[in-house]
Order: sequence, then structure tokens, then C-alpha cells
Amino acid sequence: MNNIEMLKKMIKEEADNTRLQFLLACEYQRENRQDEAIPLLKGLLTGSDLSMAKEVMDKLSEIQQEEKQPNQEEPDDKELTVNGVVSKLRIIKGGNETAQEVASYQREDSPITFADVGGLTELKKAITMKIIQPFVDPALYRRFKKKSGGGILLYGPPGCGKTFIARATAGECKARFQAVRISDILDPYFGQSERNMSDIFSVARSQRPCILFFDEIDALGFNRTKIHSDMLKTVVDQLLSEIEGVDSNTEQILLIGATNMPWDVDPALRRPGRFDKTLFVAPPDEDARQVIFKLKLQGRPCEAIDYTRLARQTELYSGADIENVVEMAAESVLEEIMNSGNAERKITNDDLLLAVGRSTPSTLDWLRTIENFIKYSNQSGLYDEAALYLKKYKRFI
Ligand code: ATP
Repeated sequence: MNNIEMLKKMIKEEADNTRLQFLLACEYQRENRQDEAIPLLKGLLTGSDLSMAKEVMDKLSEIQQEEKQPNQEEPDDKELTVNGVVSKLRIIKGGNETAQEVASYQREDSPITFADVGGLTELKKAITMKIIQPFVDPALYRRFKKKSGGGILLYGPPGCGKTFIARATAGECKARFQAVRISDILDPYFGQSERNMSDIFSVARSQRPCILFFDEIDALGFNRTKIHSDMLKTVVDQLLSEIEGVDSNTEQILLIGATNMPWDVDPALRRPGRFDKTLFVAPPDEDARQVIFKLKLQGRPCEAIDYTRLARQTELYSGADIENVVEMAAESVLEEIMNSGNAERKITNDDLLLAVGRSTPSTLDWLRTIENFIKYSNQSGLYDEAALYLKKYKRFI
């Protein structure tokens, strides 16, 4: 059995082992079977495991160098216009894609736009001003000597659409959306976490235009005064220096952070040029709740649904809570079908209202917690938007 066969056999037994897949791609390369090596490497690059992205990129660029004809020129950044938005796209090293192909997989990655996000009108406006406009019209901002760069920090109760609106922002900018979790970064081996952090930024640079989304940023940039581990401290420092190194005008990398615990975010991360604009993502309002119900019921067998009534009865429900209501209703209908054998039974308004009656909004605890922070530690005005929201919805909390 040769190396390739052996590795294939091992991958069959451990389909999720990306290291084995990488080794297989290296074997293909060694045997000059680049047609098989390249797709395998690209698959690894676009998968969720970023821990060896740098190695994969190096390998792809090595293959490209090998394949390059002596007088062939390095492909230039290509200019691409989609719906009037001009973006400079660098073709990923080792890839043979045309600009249109690159654009199409970017659209696949971020198929949603602001039109898919119900409500949150003020938030959409703020995101447009702070990051979308400087991104699509950098010349205008330069003319007014308005420095672009830095990122935004979204905070709010869980399940209320922080990730969703970040994805939609990528859709608006026709940019790739790259979500980063703490597990992508932290590694017990000395120095590896810093390398992972730096790899994430180099991958973003190679895939620009790109939105780099740091979820649970409180865990990444946890208030350094509370950190006892030296490792975390150096990871935070590395993150700060990477953020400062990003020039979003030329590099077309946008940074969005999200947290449910803004009080735990290291203040250093919120200084100018970093995540310097903090925006509140409130629980969806009545219009947004209607949209979310429609989205979640799409494609399921339903009778006529009174979305207005459902939205009215679900004050303070998060998007995830609404998803849960729909799941509960669907489950009870399925159970009934199994007992009665009546496969024609559809989801009705009453099924949904019953599920609403059996659930409570998960945002309540969070809103009560932030109420205390607003009372005792909002001197800087950081939580003003949340304070306004609480004032408006006080009777429900
Ligand atoms: P967490 O803090 O737990 O990570 P989150 O705030 O990032 O949560 P999302 O994962 O973005 O929440 O939202 C949960 C789901 O709710 C989304 O997949 C989306 O379908 C739906 N949703 C939330 N808000 C909206 C909205 N305003 N419009 C449409 N759908 C929404």
C-alpha cells in the first residue's frame, strides 16, 4: 500500500481529520497530481478549521510557483463591479478562479443582506455610516479627511441577531464573512495561540474584501485586569496589534466584534482605531418578529397565519426564541400526526400561540442584568442605547 492509499484509508475512518487531508494533499503534490491536491487544499481553506490555514496557503502558493510558466506574470488584483460596488479582489494564491467565480462564492458565503434583517433600523443606519460607506466609497471619506478603520462592537441579549446582522453587513459589502471563535485561536502549546491569531488575519488579507467577525469577544479580549493567565494576556496583545495593523481602506478588511457581556470586554479593545463604536442589538421589535416568524415557517406546511397577532404576543422574544416557538409547534403537530395518522394536518395559528404560551423570552435575565450596569456603571454613556430601550419597554421587564 503506498502513502496515498494508506492516507485515504485513514481518512475513511476519520473523515473529520483535516490534518490527514492536508497530508494527503502533500502526497498528491509530491506525485505531481496537482489536479487532486488543489481542490483538497481549497476545501481545507474554506472549511471552518482555521488552525492550519497558513500551512494550506503556503502549500497552495508553492504549487502555483511550481506551475507558473517562466514568463507568466503574477495576476493583478482584479477590479470587480457588483451592483455598483467596486471591490478589489485578489485571487487566492494557487486558485484558478476568475473574478466572477470568486465573487460568486463570496455571495454564497454571505447570501443575506439588510433586506433579510427585520427591524433594527437605527442599527442598520449606524452600520452603514460607520463601516459600509467608508468601505464602498473610500474616496469620499478621504476627501473629508475622515479616517476609516477600526471596527464596531455589537452587544445585546443572546439570539437577537448580532451574528445575523454581521453576516448581512458582509452581504451588503459583497465581502466574504469569516467568523472567528475563541476555539480557533487558543492552543495549549506555547506561542501557538499568537500564531493562530496572526494566521486568521493573514487569511482575511488573502480573502479580501472580508469581514472578520469575532464572536464572544469578551472571552477573547477578556478584561485584562481579571486575567490571571499569561497566555491569554499575550493573545490579547497580539489581537490588539493585529487590529492596529489593519488599514481597512487599502486592505478591505472590516472588523466586527460581538458580545453578550460588554461589561467584560477589555476597555483597551474599545479605544479609537480598535472596536471603537459600540452598538446595541436590541430584541427584535414587532415588525422584526413578524419577519422572523415568516422566515422560520417558510417551507413548512401551514394554514393561514396571523403574523401580526403572533408578533404582538411575543414581546421581548429573541430571534432564537421565535425559532424555538416554531420548533415546538412543529413538534406537537408531528406528534399528533403520528398518533392520528392524519398526514394532511398543517401548522395552525393556534399551534403557534400554544407554543408561545409554553415559553418565556430568554432576553429577560440579560435585560435585568444590564439594568444594574446602567444604574451603577454607565458614566461613560456606553450603555445609553440599551438604557433607552429599557425605558421604552420597562413595563415588560
Ligand atoms: P448569540 O449571542 O447567542 O451568539 P446572536 O445575537 O448572534 O446570538 P443570531 O445567532 O444572529 O443571534 O440570531 C439567532 C437567529 O435569529 C438567527 O439565525 C436569525 O435567523 C434570527 N434573527 C435574529 N434577529 C433577527 C432579525 N432582526 N431579523 C431576522 N432574523 C433574525
